[in-house]
Amino acid sequence: MKKDKLSWAQLVREAEKKNLPLIDYLLERSAAQLETDRASILAKMETMLQVMEEAVAFGLTGVKSNSGLTGGSGKKLKEYIDSQETGKKGLLGSVVGTAVTCALAAAEANAAMGRIVAAPTAGASGILPGVLMSVQQHCGVPRDKLVEGLVVAGVIGEVIANRASIAGATGGCQAECGSGAAMAAGAVVYMLGGNGKQIGDAVSIVFKNMLGLVCDPVAGLVEVPCIKRNAGSVAQCFLAAEMALAGIGSFIPADEAIDAMDKVGRALPHGLRETAEGGLAMTPTARAWSENYFKGIRG
Ligand code: SF4
Repeated sequence: MKKDKLSWAQLVREAEKKNLPLIDYLLERSAAQLETDRASILAKMETMLQVMEEAVAFGLTGVKSNSGLTGGSGKKLKEYIDSQETGKKGLLGSVVGTAVTCALAAAEANAAMGRIVAAPTAGASGILPGVLMSVQQHCGVPRDKLVEGLVVAGVIGEVIANRASIAGATGGCQAECGSGAAMAAGAVVYMLGGNGKQIGDAVSIVFKNMLGLVCDPVAGLVEVPCIKRNAGSVAQCFLAAEMALAGIGSFIPADEAIDAMDKVGRALPHGLRETAEGGLAMTPTARAWSENYFKGIRG
């Protein structure tokens, strides 16, 4: 018998039916699935949060990737924002500026082989740390709420992985960075007091704006354009979360937006799904750099 796909709308309905706050229902469900208890799940999420913080701190030292292609952007953006007059925190403002800075730093930590949390993948590992660090710093979200936000993000990731894919090789970058942004947007809406429907709206809005994003890493390395796509995804996350919190709904429900993302991903040509045979990876600059790089490796 075909199993029903995991559905965000259904999870929200189940919590309502049981008369439980959404977070309690999600924790109860995850604990049953993993044969553990609520406290252990929260402790695991706290550990993940710490790893994310360490990745940001490592990235902010200005690390360079092993290939030499990327590094130092997070540090550079932080220095630029910090150098602005008080009250003028760059074009992005405090919340998005800090989030982009930290997302760049964590993604650069990944490219430099630092320890990261795949959220949902290594390629998209800067988005959630960036968003969480910024919300903690600028929105006064307490630690326990941040940890719960990670739980919400994790369940959204589970729904996406179940209905579609979180792999660039299967669904393009919309499945990696798009999913990371959707997970982070859902977490932000939750942490700032939104309800289950609003979380779903934010997820859907992210996919509306990131649908079709291809996976085209230069030389097959998770560096260009990956690191800056983490930064762009942070902006998409806050855009969607702010709209959802304002009560702007999504005409297309989250589950259907995820299904659409899946179909679009499978329709993408092979060259735009992590093969480095299309998109930015095939530009003259990328090809010249790759040729040199592989020549250097082969010796
Ligand atoms: S471009 Fe491809 S490898 Fe890079 S982050 Fe996106 S999905 Fe991952």
